[in-house]
Amino acid sequence: MTKGDLLSWAEINLSAFTHNIRNLRQHLQPGTQLMAVVKKNAYGHGAVQIAKAAVAAGAEWLGVHSLEEGLELRNAGITAPVLILGGVPLAQAIAIVEKKLTPTVTETKLPLALDRAARELGTTIAVHVKVDTGINRSGASIEDIPHLLHFIYSLGRVRIGGLYTHFASADEPDRRVTETQLQRFLEVAANHPELRFLHAANSAAALRFPETHLNLVRVGIAMYGVYPPPATEKTVPLRPVLSLKSRVVRLHWIRPGEGVSYGLTWTAKTDALMALVPFGYGHGLPRLLSNRGQVLIHGQRVPIRGRVCMDQCIVDVTTVPEVKVGDEVVLLGYQGSQEINADEIANWADTISNEVFTRVGAGLRRIYITK
Ligand SMILES: *Cc1c(COP(=O)(O)O)cnc(C)c1O
Repeated sequence: MTKGDLLSWAEINLSAFTHNIRNLRQHLQPGTQLMAVVKKNAYGHGAVQIAKAAVAAGAEWLGVHSLEEGLELRNAGITAPVLILGGVPLAQAIAIVEKKLTPTVTETKLPLALDRAARELGTTIAVHVKVDTGINRSGASIEDIPHLLHFIYSLGRVRIGGLYTHFASADEPDRRVTETQLQRFLEVAANHPELRFLHAANSAAALRFPETHLNLVRVGIAMYGVYPPPATEKTVPLRPVLSLKSRVVRLHWIRPGEGVSYGLTWTAKTDALMALVPFGYGHGLPRLLSNRGQVLIHGQRVPIRGRVCMDQCIVDVTTVPEVKVGDEVVLLGYQGSQEINADEIANWADTISNEVFTRVGAGLRRIYITK
């Protein structure tokens, strides 16, 4: 199938993605490696294609959330180091060792299971230990680290490849939370000079706190071309990677007083030209854009009228009467000189770009372009 046969699709610009990785790399401290975080289907962009593009652009590491996400990369032939950022059930130890994935360890049960699995398979396994320095989400407590590391060293088959932590507020105006977390982390790490990788920075920290780069940064949202709001200054040139596109499938005039879509929540005041667009909340267009969002058509912004439906929405093209059935509609991205970016959609939907991306439906066709 080519684009011409599709009614609705996502366009992923791999040139923009490569540009972002290269620019982020230039911003890193010398000797710092880059982990491309491709969890949740690469924030909706397509895990395998994005992981391959990231490695080709120089990312040394890939980051996923779960074993299943790691397996998807390995099954696609990707051999780069992959850190599993989330927790894994003990029953997955064998698969992790077999596929040479790097799990995150926060307590003693998993390393014990990994040690057993590694013995069974006649090999060794590297892990990264995660310490909670203040986000209070996951990770071993600071006090437990000496015992945990000692326990892992005693096992024999489990190697500790790195120690890491995660920031709670690296994108917030108040910089002190991040500074305190970094200080705590460095105090723990100072007792373990044998550890190869120390890492802490997500996108916001990578962009705002060079002192957090250490020898590895874990970058997600910035790679996809979005600055983490609210306080991140646009210091590194980034291009948006994802566009969402569709086509007009019906045009019809309605009379003053007539309403549109479920609940007839919008009523025309004059004769109005309605365009039906087969793109709805099931494709990832937030339902909160009902009577609030806009789309681009013929290079102009036009408003969404009435409620966004599961597979379609209705837009008002009264000001663009030359529109024809089949014309391209941009829900996210550029058309002519106009742009609707992910932050704008996120604002309409009272969320962040990350959620806009991850809500892009798995069934929506992704087209990979370079330009
Ligand atoms: C998702 C995630 C990241 C990437 O975060 P961004 O803000 O998208 O850069 C980094 N580290 C961990 C542990 C994560 O879960």
